[in-house]
Amino acid sequence: MVRLTAPVLLPCDPACSVIRDGVLDIGADGRILWCGPRSEAPAAPDAEVRELTGILLPGLVNAHCHTPMTVLRGLGGDLPLMRWLQEVMWPAEGRMDAADVRAGMLLGCIEMLRAGVTTSVEMYFYTDAVADAALDAGSRLVLTPGIIAVPGWDRLGTWQQMAAEVSARIDANGLRYGPGERIELGYGPHGAYTLPAEALPSVADAARERGALMHMHLAETTVEDAEQRARYGSVPRMLEQLGVLDPARPLRLLAAHGVHLDDADIALFARHQVTVAHCPGSNAKLAAGTARVPALRRAGVPLALGTDGPASSDDLDMWSVARLTGRMARLASGDSAELTATDLLLLATRHGAAAIGRDDLGALEPGRWADVVHVTTDDPAFLHLDDDTRLISNLVWAGGARLVRDVWVAGEQVIADTEPTRTDRAEAQSTARAVAARL
Ligand SMILES: [Zn+2]
Repeated sequence: MVRLTAPVLLPCDPACSVIRDGVLDIGADGRILWCGPRSEAPAAPDAEVRELTGILLPGLVNAHCHTPMTVLRGLGGDLPLMRWLQEVMWPAEGRMDAADVRAGMLLGCIEMLRAGVTTSVEMYFYTDAVADAALDAGSRLVLTPGIIAVPGWDRLGTWQQMAAEVSARIDANGLRYGPGERIELGYGPHGAYTLPAEALPSVADAARERGALMHMHLAETTVEDAEQRARYGSVPRMLEQLGVLDPARPLRLLAAHGVHLDDADIALFARHQVTVAHCPGSNAKLAAGTARVPALRRAGVPLALGTDGPASSDDLDMWSVARLTGRMARLASGDSAELTATDLLLLATRHGAAAIGRDDLGALEPGRWADVVHVTTDDPAFLHLDDDTRLISNLVWAGGARLVRDVWVAGEQVIADTEPTRTDRAEAQSTARAVAARL
């Protein structure tokens, strides 16, 4: 057993408690055994004790990403979304092989871990390369291989073959596998505008049968789904009419973006408990608009936060996504009390994990995986540590990725004093640099 101690623990329980002089016990299986104040901690004479300064909190959850695109970062950065995708991204991705994907993924995993992001929901291709790179770095993934049917992508097979490959992987490996169950598999139908209508209920049935997550782009821009809007009213209504969403047969559906949703769409999402992965950084950069976060929250739609791929968002920094979420929601509502620092912290951790269907992540609680982040308070952001509200406020609004010192995933230390323990950052960077130069 490992015992971590720190002056402050943020377990990210529903009340977002602040535990002073805290103790976190991690079992040999990588799960949390105990979390609370030292004065109440059970005796642990055989524990390996690490006395840390600063704050311990759960790892952050990035609910929508295409991490291997680190090698495409900055390419065609100022084009409108559809032109950017069709003229720049998709041709460049067409030149990527499995080794390129692996190099980009490894670098992105290191980047996220160093920022305290321990879990990401990924939609990409070359599934083995993505999973292997994450396992090398020690990250946790919900890996939903892309399923798409647009010209050029048929080199990877038909949408039916792509979906069948995911099903075969789940049937062979189980839904979750790897050390500390680091990999969870799901389905990534790219979007309503990149697949024939019949693909969505078919993939939904395969996901539902296996209890898997279905992760798709939805209502990111006003132009992408003009055809579906004309025919069905909106993509959410299309999903209901096609039986993708059916109260008698629940589905874990994660909708990335959810920017252009009207009141009826939001009510529909609430009814079916469809989760929105809110990506304000990517949406702002691509001028897509911004999701109606206050309305989604009031309606009871589960929310998670995401960066989106590093080619559009660009820094994979969930702390900055959390801040942007708060700022944009406040601008939209005209209410400076909308989304407190506590709300934002929970969105990036506990609530984000719950929204992707993982109640075993996102909080420091017995039984959950020990995905833990240690941040320093030796920083100008923290001049006053005694007040609980102010401490969380300083962490969220003035702190961020630069404060992260150490990170554990499933109890294994993967970042030590800001550097990866399992891989060489300089080497990962130079490999990815060579790929970027070629692409
Ligand atoms: Zn995306």
